[in-house]
Amino acid sequence: MEQLITEIQPRLTQHFAKLVENKKIAHAYLLAGPRGAGKNKLAHWIAQAIFCKQKQNGYPCLQCNDCQRIAQNNQPDVVTIVPEGNSIKVDQIRYLKSEFVKSGVESNRKLFIIQNAEKMTVSAANSLLKFLEEPSGDVTAFLLTENANQLLPTIVSRCQLVELTSLTTKQLREKLQANGVTVQKAHLLAHLTNSPKEALELDADVEFDQLLKNVWEWFNQILRNDWRAFVGVQTKLLPYVNDKEAEQRLLQAIILLTRDLLLLKYGKKDDVAFIMYSKELSEQNMKISESGAIRAVEAVLATKHQLTVNVSFQSVLEALTLNLFSCYQGR
Ligand SMILES: [Zn+2]
Repeated sequence: MEQLITEIQPRLTQHFAKLVENKKIAHAYLLAGPRGAGKNKLAHWIAQAIFCKQKQNGYPCLQCNDCQRIAQNNQPDVVTIVPEGNSIKVDQIRYLKSEFVKSGVESNRKLFIIQNAEKMTVSAANSLLKFLEEPSGDVTAFLLTENANQLLPTIVSRCQLVELTSLTTKQLREKLQANGVTVQKAHLLAHLTNSPKEALELDADVEFDQLLKNVWEWFNQILRNDWRAFVGVQTKLLPYVNDKEAEQRLLQAIILLTRDLLLLKYGKKDDVAFIMYSKELSEQNMKISESGAIRAVEAVLATKHQLTVNVSFQSVLEALTLNLFSCYQGR
């Protein structure tokens, strides 16, 4: 199932192969793109291309010792930094620098990859900045992020920005169906995530399946002005949400439901995510005003933003439930 980066990002791998071949690799790259776009894979693939001794036209062989060790994060001249807890701390960057002043363990070539680079603390970012300004030796840096806007502009200006786009929803859907996911589920999963891997994990997750059924029941109750929806937050939704990621995913599902309703208002059946419920959604849709449907989408988007602040998820969802009642019931 593992998809090759040359398939996910054929244009970019071709571009970097040419740079490797012509020895034109820059000192620092910022790889920016959504989850599932292949940022980490691309960085590792370029590292392989640089270190591979059997490369052809800049393409790594993927078989040799160097290629394999890089794939396993086990090549001492290729160092990856990941957040410790919620941030990348200045000590991690200091460690990186100390590693890099030593001459290459196996060559003079060195490369580092910083995942979730937006999570660098300000002091970590400043420490890295000095390093980027005076690179010692033959060093290449890859900073990976989902959102380049969250990095210090001084860092961004030191890097060449490479933007990765992920699979289109349609491509992902086809891929999921090819892996045995039902048409309806593939539609929904392709709207919930960009990552084929995550989508397949969710497809196999029984609890997530139940949560989807429950969130639909909750939403349908709101549409029918049934106040059991309010109690449902605690009994039907919260038991299935154990971490921040699950909270975000639940809200994403709710965003899709409100969005589906709006799409149906505009007659755009093909873009609907919850096609398994499109019949019921269409029926309820008739009773809802256009402005109410728009306000509902806005309300959920605003809620998603609130989650970054520290409030209990239960109170956030309860407030949202009331808010949706008022959007859809026109009060
Ligand atoms: Zn190789």
